[in-house]
Amino acid sequence: MTMSAAPNNYIARFRPLRLPRVCVAVTDTDPTALVDKAEALIRDNTFLEFRLDYLPRPALALPKIKRLMEYNPHVMAIATCRRAASGGRFQGSLASQLDILGKAAASGCQLVDLELQSASKSRPEQVQRLRSHSALILSYHDFRGTKNLESTLEKMLTTPADFYKIVGTATTLYDNVTMMKFLEKYGDRHSLVGICMGEQGIISRLLGVRAGSVFTFASVSPDEKTAPGQVTAQELRSTYRIEQVDAATRVYGVAGDPVAHSLSPAIMNAALRRENVNGVYLALHAKTLKDLLACVRDIPIHGLSITMPYKEAILKHLDNTDSHTTKIGACNTVVRAQDSKLYGFNTDTAGIVRPLEQRITLEKSKILVLGAGGAARAAVFGLKERGAEVYILNRTAGPAQKLAHQARARIAKRADLKKLTFDVIINATPVGMGNTRESPLNENEINTRYLFDMIYDPPETRLMKLARERGAELIPGIEMFVHQAARQFEIWTGKPAPWDDMLRVVTLALQERAARHAAKEAKK
Ligand code: NAP
Repeated sequence: MTMSAAPNNYIARFRPLRLPRVCVAVTDTDPTALVDKAEALIRDNTFLEFRLDYLPRPALALPKIKRLMEYNPHVMAIATCRRAASGGRFQGSLASQLDILGKAAASGCQLVDLELQSASKSRPEQVQRLRSHSALILSYHDFRGTKNLESTLEKMLTTPADFYKIVGTATTLYDNVTMMKFLEKYGDRHSLVGICMGEQGIISRLLGVRAGSVFTFASVSPDEKTAPGQVTAQELRSTYRIEQVDAATRVYGVAGDPVAHSLSPAIMNAALRRENVNGVYLALHAKTLKDLLACVRDIPIHGLSITMPYKEAILKHLDNTDSHTTKIGACNTVVRAQDSKLYGFNTDTAGIVRPLEQRITLEKSKILVLGAGGAARAAVFGLKERGAEVYILNRTAGPAQKLAHQARARIAKRADLKKLTFDVIINATPVGMGNTRESPLNENEINTRYLFDMIYDPPETRLMKLARERGAELIPGIEMFVHQAARQFEIWTGKPAPWDDMLRVVTLALQERAARHAAKEAKK
């Protein structure tokens, strides 16, 4: 496309300033509360957006904003008063929108945001008047998709502005790639801000700044998002280390459907930070494997954790897998080698074997595995390779027999359990997940020294409680989670994983999650 030559000059007082990468959107329906919130934020965040459109009478906040900005000259602020017709909450006329933005600039907001729709309906001199006191961000939001970015920019460039902000909605992972390619192509010529909204767009909030977005937006807290998929400023900085993301940053991620509640970003980013690896680990919500593979081709992703439902289906798309992974028939780890080929591994085995080896000698130990799915297969093959005597018990006979045959393991009959004793019983079924009432075994069927439950939510399942009462030592599912992640880290980085740190981070994250859940329940 031929972009018309719009001047890309910041007004003089902006030239020496470098904007921080993260702008925190502040909202409230009360002007005093809005400014109080901003005041609380400015110790850690020097770049704020005042969403004036959330206030029933935006003008009432301006004297308070003026005072805040006078006392805090280091703070940069955007004033936004988005009209309802453009996806905001402001019900007033275009003239009053322009009036409020002009007054916000006079109150010390160094930047104002005006939607393309409002700018198109205004006289050019009205829009340019806004620029006499502040820098202008011309914005465009698409709440349905990420399309026509170039032609939108072309339209926007007919209005001279200091920043052009284009926000799409990600309905696929690939929409992020579209946004990033756009930012890479035009980011040198124009000051762009580009983001994809939506849960699938979270990666654009991080990788967008790497591709050329001047900054990105974050929310104050998970409950105060001004756009779907927005991440908190705290998360962007401390979990994802957005200030350090640069062209050399390696990208890792967990791919699955769903992934929103995955603990993998917390644990993996903590490990990358601890070991000083220039890398970032993201949640990739892939609704189809095709979308994931297209995205992986175009974003230089270095490593992937594969989770439900793609652990088996991804195998045939990989260039190679080790023999252990082929036997199990499921892959939870992908690495992109220097030749760009994708190699698959299964680290669930390490997740089971390592916690056990820290406690017992596996050779000749007698182990019962409940289940015959992917995780059970990783356990059975891994334990057999280490010389354990393995028994399988599954709800359905077919998969158990197949696995027993392939791995040369034995079948256990439920009726015999009361008489049998084991060194370890491993639960590789989802029974007990999310609630504490169900157990795959009755009390008198649990005759074992160790009970290892792969489930980690809840941290203590009914099965674990029964086993504890029978005198067994417990191995919680979180240890499997940590050790399979630690092995992934080692495959990707070649460094030993800080697994004890990882365990601490993930235990904390689970406790915080439980506390949030309890607080929500208490509110009901
Ligand atoms: P999967 O492939 O779907 O296999 C599920 C297995 O559980 C099958 O053998 C199935 O038996 C059995 N099962 C399902 N519902 C059952 C029920 N109501 N009663 C009795 N048996 C039932 O799943 P997976 O990937 O192996 O995962 C199994 C469990 O391990 C899940 O809870 C998962 O969260 C956990 N896991 C934990 C970690 C970790 O890091 N801690 C890692 C991987 C997996 P049928 O053959 O009869 O269907």
